[in-house]
Amino acid sequence: MGLPPDRLDRFARHIVLPEIGGAGQAVLARSKVALIGLGGIGSPALQYLAGAGVGTLVLVDDDAVDMSNLQRQTIYRHGESGHSKAELAEVWVREFDPELEVKRIGRRVTRDNAAGVLAGTDLVLDGCDNFATRLAVSDACVAARIPLLSAAVGRFQGQVGAFAGHLADQPCYRCFVGDAFDADDCDTCAEDGILGAMAGWTGTFAALQAIRVLLAGTGGLGDPQWGKLHLLDGLAPGMRTLGIAKDPGCRGCGRG
Ligand SMILES: [Zn+2]
Repeated sequence: MGLPPDRLDRFARHIVLPEIGGAGQAVLARSKVALIGLGGIGSPALQYLAGAGVGTLVLVDDDAVDMSNLQRQTIYRHGESGHSKAELAEVWVREFDPELEVKRIGRRVTRDNAAGVLAGTDLVLDGCDNFATRLAVSDACVAARIPLLSAAVGRFQGQVGAFAGHLADQPCYRCFVGDAFDADDCDTCAEDGILGAMAGWTGTFAALQAIRVLLAGTGGLGDPQWGKLHLLDGLAPGMRTLGIAKDPGCRGCGRG
């Protein structure tokens, strides 16, 4: 299925890349990605996924904009304090590219609603601010066989990992962090501080990895990098990569 002429123009710099091409761009246009959290990671990730022409975006956040968010949450503006992030993000996408489909969910993802929120998506990008949500999202992804990119950032450190725990030999996010955080609401951003550009680096790197996963079927950007955790250090600066092993006893993806 080819893209119409105006879309070919819009994505010309993608299409000229042999790693993407017309076929890869058509895959992106057919893809559905859920963004969990529309904050410091979700904002720049959304901008680059929308820019890349990812056809359907599920925007999930139950929070409202606070003045202190504007230092890093790039889609929000002065005067929007108190407004719903999910609603503002939907407006942002519609103004940026009216061809994209948006589904807005202004609720927090929980163990009870996660399956419904994520149903039908090709990939979930989780940049939320608490472990309870992250683990609920991870378990729901494993159950529905949806790949998960998990991204987090604080101070000058970021991390982005790709998980496919539904595959027999691949870890899930729970294999990585364990069970200790299920009940914890662990938003350390307010206490620890964060360099705004560090959230930008982490969010845009997560968007790059998302595109890698979406195009894995075409072979375009190579291996989807399941079980690889990339650690971004803004002070050095530099990047390290760790491999995460599948935990056979994992409550999320193991055989029990
Ligand atoms: Zn697991």
